[in-house]
Amino acid sequence: MTRKTLELTPALHDYLLAHSLREPPVLAQLRAETAQLALSRMQIAPEQGQFLALLARLIGARRTLEVGVFTGYSALSVALALPPGGQVVGCDTSAEWTAVAQAYFARAGVAERLDLRLAPARQTLDALILDGQSGRFDFAFIDADKTGYADYYERCLRLVRPGGVIAIDNTLWDGKVAEPAANDADTRALRRFNRALHQDERIDLSLLPLADGVTIARRR
Ligand code: CA
Repeated sequence: MTRKTLELTPALHDYLLAHSLREPPVLAQLRAETAQLALSRMQIAPEQGQFLALLARLIGARRTLEVGVFTGYSALSVALALPPGGQVVGCDTSAEWTAVAQAYFARAGVAERLDLRLAPARQTLDALILDGQSGRFDFAFIDADKTGYADYYERCLRLVRPGGVIAIDNTLWDGKVAEPAANDADTRALRRFNRALHQDERIDLSLLPLADGVTIARRR
């Protein structure tokens, strides 16, 4: 028995993928196309996309939020797990990257499930709250600028229903959150964010050592 999460060696990671990943061809194509881009490290891992899709199904999600769409891998993973009529409201400021997302939603036959809002996410989320959408969402995935996480989280927590889930990416930040010498603005923001969620009585939570760290918060 071990109290620790076991170390994921390259061989074990390959085994994990070989024995669990069911990546649809359209997502594999999107991943390959995104890998050509300079910012491709912003793309989530395929097993993480599958996990988000499973979470969405587990809670019977129909309406979801995506803060930071990039080229759409996580948004499309979740969208494909939604029932007919399901919707992903996607927040991003890049017309260039989200055009890739739109193309792949179309290719996957779910173009109508993406409600893309090209504006700063705070603005879009505030507009949804003003529009009476609080508690109307089932699920949210936050994967954008790290110094904005606290603001995005507060807004998403209002927008998801009790029992709804918010998943937050990169919360272990390549291990830097636990390295005292790391002191850049993103690392400090993530440390503050992780501390705040740990003490937040409004949620149940788990910080999973999946990919770059994924925190799952369930609104009570
Ligand atoms: Ca990320």
